[in-house]
Amino acid sequence: MLACTGVGQPASFEPARSAKRQVRWAKKVIPIAVSSSLTLPNASIKAGSDVAGAIHGALATWSTAANINFLEAPAKVQSISPVDHPDGVNLITVAATMENLAIFGDESSPARTRVFYDANTGEISEADIVINPYTYSVAGAPLEFSTDGTPGTYDLQSTLTHEIGHLLGLNHSSVIGATMNATQGLNGTFGLPALGERSLSESDLAAVKSIYGSRGETGSIDGRILSNEQGTLLPAARAHVWLEDAASGRVMASGVTNATGSFNIAGIVPGLYRVMTEYLDSGMPEDESLTVDPKRRSSGQSFRAVEIAGGLRVAANKTALVNYILVPPQNSPATLNPRFVGLNGELSTMPVTATRGTTLTVYLSGSAVDQVPGTGLLVTSPYLNVNPASLRSHQFGGTAPVITFDVTIALDAPPGDYSIRLQSNSGEVAYLVGALVVEPTQ
Ligand SMILES: [Zn+2]
Repeated sequence: MLACTGVGQPASFEPARSAKRQVRWAKKVIPIAVSSSLTLPNASIKAGSDVAGAIHGALATWSTAANINFLEAPAKVQSISPVDHPDGVNLITVAATMENLAIFGDESSPARTRVFYDANTGEISEADIVINPYTYSVAGAPLEFSTDGTPGTYDLQSTLTHEIGHLLGLNHSSVIGATMNATQGLNGTFGLPALGERSLSESDLAAVKSIYGSRGETGSIDGRILSNEQGTLLPAARAHVWLEDAASGRVMASGVTNATGSFNIAGIVPGLYRVMTEYLDSGMPEDESLTVDPKRRSSGQSFRAVEIAGGLRVAANKTALVNYILVPPQNSPATLNPRFVGLNGELSTMPVTATRGTTLTVYLSGSAVDQVPGTGLLVTSPYLNVNPASLRSHQFGGTAPVITFDVTIALDAPPGDYSIRLQSNSGEVAYLVGALVVEPTQ
């Protein structure tokens, strides 16, 4: 029996990105007020949870990555600041007050962050995080937070780690295994705890280093993706561009093109990379604030995934240029569209975690995935090998086909996020970016 669960709730970052400059803190010390609603017993957090440890752990993770110090202090404050009345206090709260509940609107996401910043300079003056006191499953059942991996609950530290990324000015990532990916799975998805978002992916680290700098040296890439449509070059907006380490295949950085088709990805560890692009089904709301003459926007609205650079050298303190023109058949809508991945008879938008030295049977579902031969399936890494003979096609009564195949993870596979690449019989290529996460050995 196949279950499709853990699709997850998007956690939004507000307000919309209208700043002319990168949204960031100018100061290196950020006070954080921890509302007493988090320290007193409450119905939305499982009794006995280590709330203080979760908050401290989440802050420490970003503190190390961004070279920023957080000063935690207890506070009696319960409610976050209204949109038009910042109080200067950076609050983390779970109190079920009107002001806190208002930030969720009709959503049931596990948490939301409100960031106040100067639209001209991008400087953040305040950020408030609300842990949702009334979060529900897709089926409508009330959900709790926990810190011990209890199945059917959200991991509080994972939720906080994601939200503190927003507090620092980070956007959502389209890398499935990234902490800043928009969806958080429940503990128990695939029969496993969902604690992966407690630690940052390489792409999260690149994103935060691109804003706050890094102790080590990093480089960047700049580029523009255009679509050739009957001889006219139009911008490919909302395209996901990502970098994989050429040797290991690990996803190392990621970004999205703006309305002019341009992108900039910084904070990249120097090295040799493959650069790929894919069309994003779900437009990022922050891009909608960017306007462009509709006649100058690609009419295709979608294109097929393609490698845009095979061996790009990124050097320290330098910007590599990558421009690409999509030509037919790339600039026609994708028919091959893998959307869900999974394990143990369950499919989700969550990444699959893999332990070194093991073989996993990976589930995959989406439009036309049954048109992919065993030899068309691979993980873009020499450390993760697909057995082509293990490919099976299934019909579970749903509309999209489901396939399963075995992946063996080498004992020396570097921890990180890896992509699954599919190539159909017609030659069309698609990726599930960062969908396989190799965990560090305990
Ligand atoms: Zn979010």
